[in-house]
Amino acid sequence: MVTGGSSGIGRAVAERLRADGHRVATIDLAPSPNGHGHIADVTRREQIDAALEAIRAELGPVGILVNAAGLDGFTAFADITFDAWRRVVDVNLNGVFHTAQAVLPDMVAAGWGRIVNISSSSTHSGVPYMSHYVAAKSAVNGLTKSLALEYGPFGITVNAVPPGFIDTPMLRSAEGRGLLGDINDTIEATPVRRMGRPEDIAAACAFLASEEAGYITGQILGVNGGRNT
Ligand code: NAP
Repeated sequence: MVTGGSSGIGRAVAERLRADGHRVATIDLAPSPNGHGHIADVTRREQIDAALEAIRAELGPVGILVNAAGLDGFTAFADITFDAWRRVVDVNLNGVFHTAQAVLPDMVAAGWGRIVNISSSSTHSGVPYMSHYVAAKSAVNGLTKSLALEYGPFGITVNAVPPGFIDTPMLRSAEGRGLLGDINDTIEATPVRRMGRPEDIAAACAFLASEEAGYITGQILGVNGGRNT
């Protein structure tokens, strides 16, 4: 099950896992491009539970969860309303709480599971004007480590992938609003000298979801072209 699977990174993760032979269900606010996604808001537990009921009926219990739904935010700290703060925390952090808690019983019953949380490279350094987003994504990294310790004995691994500068609708929307400066400057500051592609993140997720990554858990695997080391 991939959240945020209708766009950008989540969409690429869903396509990659399908190509690897998994039966993939997506959850998103918007319909998925192939029409097979489930519409649900990750902040609404009853919507997650309803989507999961349909997913389990169609595909069986969930073995792999990739949390890619996310909401960015660019506001000076002093101007962030509590409602805006709460929404960013709700989507980026509480959404992971809901989906993980909802699918873990399937994984415990199977004695096998994989959770990959898409956090953000902004957690390595902090970013001005993104304090709500960075706080929520940093909490996702912490949640990842705690869940890894708690669920390792059940055959379940939990890891995070913090992406940096990936060419997606979210990033292009921020660029379009003039929030990212000149993208060429960022490329110049990236050791591998290009933007990331959603497929770069999907490759990391596919590996962490694989059988051979079974001894990797509680890790934060940066995929950022070397901008954050
Ligand atoms: P994206 O293209 O905007 O995709 C995110 C998807 O999540 C969208 O389809 C969005 O739906 C969906 N979504 C948002 N709120 C949701 C909710 N409450 N319930 C269900 N789905 C929801 O962005 P992306 O760049 O691929 O981002 C994927 C993840 O990577 C996010 O967690 C993001 O924070 C993280 N990330 C991205 C970058 C980057 O450089 N692109 C860097 C660091 C971290 P709508 O479009 O309808 O809102």
